[in-house]
Amino acid sequence: MKTKKISIVLPVFNEANSLPLLWQRLDAVIKQSAYPFEVIFVDDGSHDQTTEILYDIQNKNAGVVKFVRLSRNFGHQQALTCGIESALGQAVILMDADLQDTPEALPNLIAKWEEGFEVVYAIRTDRKEFFIKRWAFSAFYRLQAKMIEIKLPLDAGIFSIMDKKVVDQLKSMGERNRYLPGLRGFTGFKQTGIKIERGARHAGEPKVSLAKLFKLAMDGIFSMSYVPLRLANYLGLCIASGSFVIALWALYTKFFTDQASPGWSSNLAGTFFIGGVQLVFLGILGEYLGRIYDEVKGRPYYIIDQKVGFEEDHAS
Ligand code: UDP
Ligand code: MG
Repeated sequence: MKTKKISIVLPVFNEANSLPLLWQRLDAVIKQSAYPFEVIFVDDGSHDQTTEILYDIQNKNAGVVKFVRLSRNFGHQQALTCGIESALGQAVILMDADLQDTPEALPNLIAKWEEGFEVVYAIRTDRKEFFIKRWAFSAFYRLQAKMIEIKLPLDAGIFSIMDKKVVDQLKSMGERNRYLPGLRGFTGFKQTGIKIERGARHAGEPKVSLAKLFKLAMDGIFSMSYVPLRLANYLGLCIASGSFVIALWALYTKFFTDQASPGWSSNLAGTFFIGGVQLVFLGILGEYLGRIYDEVKGRPYYIIDQKVGFEEDHAS
């Protein structure tokens, strides 16, 4: 038996139908491994049977399983952050609780970590999701890569193992509106990816709504990049040079031709265009301003209602 403990963090929101099978498969993997584990479930304000099931799993596996119940539903990234901050292992594994992240792939992640990589993330080879969602993800990762300065892996989400070095850095980052794959990449160290097929959701509907996914995608860009702000400059320059060309053309028609003056429709189109562009960039300013406002308010990122199974840590 190795001495280094590994923590597994799983955010859970209304996953009563997935939890029994998830635990069965995870438990089998843990029992096969040479490492001692702590498994931290973060119950993100579930209102189905999730909490009872977690109590039960914890009760039967005290010493390995711990769970934190948040005071309400805060969100996927918040629940993950809470789990990371409660974890004590020499490495922390992040995975979803709906069985899209295959428990049987954990030994592969761990083996790479043992080779000396501080971060090993899963590269999704096959998303079993509706094709529009797959395209949207793919487009987002590629757009993001163009906009941010640090290099993040394409098609890698939260499923990963991180060394304590990386986890300590994440714990020290106090920012809200967190995009964990971005912050994980930001820490640096030796990072690598391994291909792991992404399974289908075991039961129920996705718990991260499309609106929340959109917000996360925005965080993934706005919290990592100034490029959207700079776009205003570039576009402004382009439009200004365009108007200069138009002015030259107007002078030419006035002095060298006898054509009638151009119609009002082109004028109106120009006005609408500029108006639209201004609104878009006001919106972009708003995105940054809202995020700054969140930081200034300094509210907690999540609120814990209850922690179960952490007692031994305090005793030792
Ligand atoms: N989840 C959570 N809080 C939420 C939404 C989701 O803790 O507000 C959990 C959920 O139970 C699952 C994981 O986060 O374990 C990923 O959620 P989901 O499968 O809905 O996301 P997707 O796979 O569609 O990105
Ligand atoms: Mg899922």
